[in-house]
Amino acid sequence: MRALIVEDETDVAADIAQAMQEAGFVVDVASDGEDAWFRGNTEDYDVAILDLGLPRIDGLTVLRRWRSEQRSFPIIILSARNDWTERVAGIEAGADDYLGKPFEIGELIARVRGLIRRAAGHTSASIAAGKLLLDTNRMSATYAGRPVRLSQLEFRLLHYLAHQTGRAVSAGELAEHLYGAADPGDANAIEALVMRLRRKLDADAIETRRGFGYLLAGSGE
Ligand code: CA
Repeated sequence: MRALIVEDETDVAADIAQAMQEAGFVVDVASDGEDAWFRGNTEDYDVAILDLGLPRIDGLTVLRRWRSEQRSFPIIILSARNDWTERVAGIEAGADDYLGKPFEIGELIARVRGLIRRAAGHTSASIAAGKLLLDTNRMSATYAGRPVRLSQLEFRLLHYLAHQTGRAVSAGELAEHLYGAADPGDANAIEALVMRLRRKLDADAIETRRGFGYLLAGSGE
């Protein structure tokens, strides 16, 4: 999963980025509103963490612009703890959740995971797709009831596919959400990852749709 972190305080941004990476996310950091707006408008994110007090363009304006430009990724806003009017304005402008500063990083991660789950229509931390069961909190998996040891990249790939419910995903899109940036060699890396996963799970666990991409078997069409 790919996250955009928008925060102008470099220490706070670095702490969030590190915790998100440890939780299995690929992250981009924007430190002003203009950069944030541009990235959110041109890149494909699974979630954004948006501080409201930002240089150049304030967070609320960034949020309104994204939403008016039909950017639909889940957004959690960071606001001053005692400023409820700011939080209300944020939610009215299209934020999905908020957290008052200062906050515990563990709570932020938990809320971000909750937002991503709900955006994909899942109500619990476990995601089932065919014989595959993913525990998104522990980043662990079972296949046909058998525990499978996965690298972080393997887990990310399955997690992203499991969120697409029946949509085939191209290698390029997978690379963007797994590695964060597109690179000419990525398609080969993704193909190698898929082959490794087929060996670990089952040869039929991930289907290839010619011309479209990859699809988890039994993920509902
Ligand atoms: Ca700020």
